[in-house]
Amino acid sequence: MTTTQSDLQDLYRKVIIDHAQQPRNFGVLEGATHSADGINPLCGDKLHLAVVVNTDNTIDDIRFEGSGCAISLASASMLTETLQRRSIVEASALAQTVTARLSGSGETDLCPEIDFQDLRALEGVRQYPARVKCATLAWQTLHAALKNAQSPATTE
Ligand code: ZN
Repeated sequence: MTTTQSDLQDLYRKVIIDHAQQPRNFGVLEGATHSADGINPLCGDKLHLAVVVNTDNTIDDIRFEGSGCAISLASASMLTETLQRRSIVEASALAQTVTARLSGSGETDLCPEIDFQDLRALEGVRQYPARVKCATLAWQTLHAALKNAQSPATTE
């Protein structure tokens, strides 16, 4: 059986709905060393991302809270799953790559050692320019968190 474009879209929709309905790593994180807020005024998505970075500059835990559309929640959920136990350097590089790919400006391959099955579902948003910011919000917020930015990351 061949996989058609619409099979893929169904799969991607299922992945996004699954993450949005049961977000991974959702909730308050005690003892966070880094955190930031992110807002996407266009859609009304709001996220708070909290990270525990240990002395080896590795992410020990990462959680998020917030409310927003399915794409913004799914993206944040995937972010927290992907970045657990990664170094800060890796995490920043990854956030940059994912943001570029979702905005359609990056054609570089995602780091091959990571299973991007779920993240690929997000790439479907490229067909809907208005939703790209919903998908990139979490990754921009991560950048702000790692810098411990005082003002919220915004997609505008
Ligand atoms: Zn949204």
